Amino acid sequence: MAQIIDGKSLAMALRDEVAASVLEIQARGGRVRFAAVLVGDNPASQIYVRNKQRACEKAGIDFVLYTLPATCQYKELTDLIQRLSADSQIHGVLLQLPVPPEVIGNRLSEVLNLIDPRKDVDGLTITNLGLLAGGNNGLVACTAQGVLHAVQSVCPDLTGKKVVMIGRSQIVGRPTALLLTNQNATVTVCHRLTQNLGEHTRTADIIVVAAGSPQLLTAEMVKPGAIIIDVGINRLPDGRLVGDVDFENVAPQAAAITPVPGGIGPLTIAFLLKNIVAAYRLQNGL
Ligand code: NAD
Repeated sequence: MAQIIDGKSLAMALRDEVAASVLEIQARGGRVRFAAVLVGDNPASQIYVRNKQRACEKAGIDFVLYTLPATCQYKELTDLIQRLSADSQIHGVLLQLPVPPEVIGNRLSEVLNLIDPRKDVDGLTITNLGLLAGGNNGLVACTAQGVLHAVQSVCPDLTGKKVVMIGRSQIVGRPTALLLTNQNATVTVCHRLTQNLGEHTRTADIIVVAAGSPQLLTAEMVKPGAIIIDVGINRLPDGRLVGDVDFENVAPQAAAITPVPGGIGPLTIAFLLKNIVAAYRLQNGL
């Protein structure tokens, strides 16, 4: 049976580190402040934002929530993002996704790129994605960092490891693939249009799944002894929360595996806190 990678306890240790850094900043008279922007009333987004708020407050980071209705104008949103980006008292700015399409149309990246890259704690601006692609990390997407941390908790050196990344979204798949490439892994990126997914995954030492599709990764797609990282979060009709991996059948043949919940989710929040402190340091030349 695989070693279960305990994302909760790894995250706890990271959050303690962040809290200590915030105390240090406060001892020097500083104050770390983070702003989240929530548009509309998507219940899942409301839960995610509340969790971020709680985590910030526990770490000593001031959290300010700005809400806009789903009926707001595009310009109200861009004005708000620009104002927060220019406010020297705010060190991190996050736009909670998804933004209702009636507000944003196909202009999401235009809005994201209004965030000052030094405050872009989700790592979604073209500057931070470009830095990552160039091998020099700026602020890196929180989930990607969570994945790397989970992998390195069981396999510290990724040099020469064969990784299959399932998913190529801007927020998870792409930055994760780049971050692992920068750690000298050999990364294959698969997606919805990939043919014969199992042919790729069966040769992988490490499989990261971020597709949003329950039971996508099954036991016959996994090489014995592989490390499995499940990023997926899916709510089943019966209310259960599951990932993208057939955990019950994959775990017995894996070397290590992350559970859902309690795997990458808590690590993502911990790296958001780390990014907020990193953003504060960037802006204060520390
Ligand atoms: P997305 O829908 O933007 O992207 C999904 C990607 O998976 C796409 O590139 C798509 O081509 C690929 N894909 C979908 N079905 C596939 C299939 N059958 N075979 C191969 N590839 C397939 O989603 P996202 O924002 O990247 O999120 C992915 C999952 O991760 C979701 O379940 C989301 O809830 C979860 N998520 C979790 C965290 C966390 O903290 N744990 C953070 C962000 C997202």
